[in-house]
Formats: sequence, C-alpha cells, structure tokens
Amino acid sequence: MIRVENLTRYYGGTCAVDEISFEMGSGGILGLLGPNGAGKTTFMRMLTCYLRPSSGNITVKDYNIHEHPIQIKELIGYLPESAPIYPDMLVYDYLKFVADVRNLEKARADSRIKELAGMCGIREVMHKPVGELSKGYKQRVGLAHAMMSDPEILVLDEPTSGLDPNQIVEIRDIIRRIGREKTVILSTHILSEAEATCDRIVIINRGKIVADGATDELKRQAGSGYIIHVSLRHGNPGEITQAFTGVPGISDVALAGSGDGIIDFRLACSGQRDIRPDIYGIIKNNNWPLLEFHRETGTLETIFRELTRGN
Ligand code: ATP
Repeated sequence: MIRVENLTRYYGGTCAVDEISFEMGSGGILGLLGPNGAGKTTFMRMLTCYLRPSSGNITVKDYNIHEHPIQIKELIGYLPESAPIYPDMLVYDYLKFVADVRNLEKARADSRIKELAGMCGIREVMHKPVGELSKGYKQRVGLAHAMMSDPEILVLDEPTSGLDPNQIVEIRDIIRRIGREKTVILSTHILSEAEATCDRIVIINRGKIVADGATDELKRQAGSGYIIHVSLRHGNPGEITQAFTGVPGISDVALAGSGDGIIDFRLACSGQRDIRPDIYGIIKNNNWPLLEFHRETGTLETIFRELTRGN
C-alpha cells in the first residue's frame, strides 16, 4: 500500500532524511522509532504531502507524492505532533468545523461525529471548550479530527508525547483498536511504546533506517546477542580495540568513553556462546589494569541503544 523509495530531505546543509526505502502492506501498526532529531517528523510530513522531498518518492496505492498530493491527502489522516486545535471552540463545534472542511454532508457529519466520540472516548467532553481539556483528551480530539473522513491510513506523530501514564495507556488502546481496521504509522522515541503498540518497528537514526522488522522478530534477534562492558585504567585504545576485534563472536568493538585515565569499551556480541573467558584472557595476558567487566543481556532496548548510539 505504501512504498518509500530513496527518500531524502535536506534542510540547507542538514540531511534530515537520508535515502530511506521500505514498503508497507495494508493493515497493522508500524512504529517509526528513533531518538530526537532522527528524522521521523520530516518523514511523516513528506508522506502526508506537507513537505516536498529533496529527492526520492513515496507511492500510496496508485498515487505518488509528486503528482497526486491531493489524492494522497484524502487517503491519509494526519495527527501532527502538536495538533492545531482551536482552544475557544467547543469540542462538538470543532469537530463539526472539521467535518465541514472535509465536505461531509450534514447528516453524515452528525453520525460520523457520534461514531468518533464513541471510538475516541470523548462523549463526556463534547460540550467543553477545547482549551479546557487535559492533554490526553486534546490528543483524543486530535485523533477524531484525523479520522473524520474515515481515511485508510492514519499517520500519528508522537501521539503519546506529554501524556501521563494513564492517558498513555488509554491512547494506546484506542490506537490498537484503530490498527485492527486501518493502516497506522506512528512515530515515537520511546521504545516501550513501540513494543507495546506496533506490529512492526522501523528504527531510524540520523535520517537512515538502521533496523526494520516485525516487533517479535526484532525481540527474538535481540535476545540472541549481548553486550560486554569493559573499563580499563590506562592503555592504548587502538591496540586494545585491535585485540578485542579478533575474538570470534564479537561483532563490534566500540570505544564508549575515555577520560581521567579510564577507557570504556562496549563489545557487541552475537550468538549464545559466552565469550567472557576469552576477553578476560586477553586482558590478563596483556596486564591491562581492569576496573569493571560485565555482561548486559540483549533486549530490544540494548539493540536500540546500540543502533542509535552517539545521537
Ligand atoms: P523529534 O523526536 O525531536 O521530533 P524527529 O525524529 O521528528 O525528532 P525531525 O524533526 O524530522 O526529527 O528533524 C530531523 C533533523 O532535521 C534534525 O536535525 C532537525 O534539527 C532538522 N530539522 C527539522 N526541521 C527543520 C527545519 N524546519 N529547518 C531546519 N532543520 C530542521
């Protein structure tokens, strides 16, 4: 249903989205996960045709963002990070206004607003001014706005940002229900959020896709790897890196920090074999003064931190 091809966007000299490509079928919830500044909002604004790419393309069904932005906007409901909701309007009047803008006939508008009030849990606030609502209720009204014309695709930019834990759970439940019928793309920088809500996770860092897979599959892969942290007092970082790099089972050796004569390494290990004896043997043979040595079991969080390290 959605195909992203070599999508790139520069702001002046800053590359916010860097040649990303992926495809998504219809249905399900895809989480776009990445740290602040990874390029999530920029991507969503291109998908929803509010921003033109520097190069590349997105096709949605048979339409592409360059030639058919109006048709694509009709297919997509978009909840931006800060929803442009008018604070002085009553919720009902606001949704009526949205229905008008979307050209819904009066009878259809009334029944649609009723449906959305139930779906988004806003019946009890329909006659309150938008400005008096809690952030959680404002987000629900924003969701109702995005879904007014019953779009096939829903794009939600950090839908739980700034909400308290109860509101987060409530919005997540609503999104999960919507995801049973619609195609949903949501962005978040909170891993647990993506894990709890999404069927598929695409991790982006510095504008590039660094992981893409079904949530369960990513978790399974994460569980088959682990990280070893080593802190040494003094030593030559280049020489130490070289010594660790040759050990079978280590997929990446990174200097995690140095200062005050202490050097920290993170060793990413794949497979189940415990290579701590090998590492300890190298340290002992070289007489490197060891300060700390521990293993962190692979979770989606360790993978996410590894992939987005340095951002
Ligand atoms: P966040 O989680 O903080 O919202 P994000 O993943 O959505 O971050 P973007 O907002 O897309 O990331 O930003 C990606 C990069 O592009 C960042 O380096 C940001 O500073 C830069 N950027 C975004 N919008 C603009 C703009 N209008 N002008 C210049 N640079 C921008």
